[in-house]
Amino acid sequence: ALVRRTCFVTGAVGMDGCPEADRGEVAFIGRSNVGKSSLVNMLTNRKSLAFISKTPGKTQQFNYFAVNDKPDLARQIRYGDEVLGSKDRDSFYIVDLPGFGFAKVPQKQRQEWSDFMDEYLTTRETLRVIFHLVDARIGPTEEDAKIMHKVGAIIGSKQQRNHAKYVIILTKADKNVKSASSKNPGKVSESVRNKLCETMKANKVGYAPIVVTSAETRLGRDEVWRYLRLAAEQ
Ligand code: GDP
Repeated sequence: ALVRRTCFVTGAVGMDGCPEADRGEVAFIGRSNVGKSSLVNMLTNRKSLAFISKTPGKTQQFNYFAVNDKPDLARQIRYGDEVLGSKDRDSFYIVDLPGFGFAKVPQKQRQEWSDFMDEYLTTRETLRVIFHLVDARIGPTEEDAKIMHKVGAIIGSKQQRNHAKYVIILTKADKNVKSASSKNPGKVSESVRNKLCETMKANKVGYAPIVVTSAETRLGRDEVWRYLRLAAEQ
């Protein structure tokens, strides 16, 4: 089994709120409703990981989940029914980054959050993979283009202190019209793929790998796990 245990650790609103950088981590970013919680639950064999960021009215925060920690009963710090653990040999963090859909958030707060995001992607040394989730049914939205623009400016720049890979994940591929009727469920429609490639090119993210997934059918699970191992095996 790749996952023994997953547990919520903390929500960070600034770099000093992130846990100690003592293991690899991967970040998932995507607009709300893209299928992020469903995908992370599928990857970690959970029914419902508490995605705090989904609670309406909650501040935008980076939510840290520890994968494969040893339960540490001595610490007795409980989140729901979870007991925080201590690091094991294949522990890593999954970080849930909120999307940019904050129309109702004041400009000042937006800027602060955007700065945190920049700083995180640039300076978090243990960051191994940035997964950007895009809905396979509709392709990249304006918000996705903004995310790519941000990532494109950081990835491979001299300032970037990690060698984080940027990987696009297409979600809900079972709902993509073509794939639903096709014998090949991993094939998304040509128009979505073209739009994606155009948006990637326009935002200078290079040739990012594209992984086609479905939380419903578990399509793409092994492929995503190949990237998760970059964080788990240090
Ligand atoms: P989040 O807001 O990004 O965390 O999105 P959720 O995981 O809550 O999913 C949003 C909606 O899309 C829900 O109604 C899910 O049931 C649906 N959904 C998520 N993943 C899939 C998928 O792989 N296939 C299908 N058909 N629906 C999905």
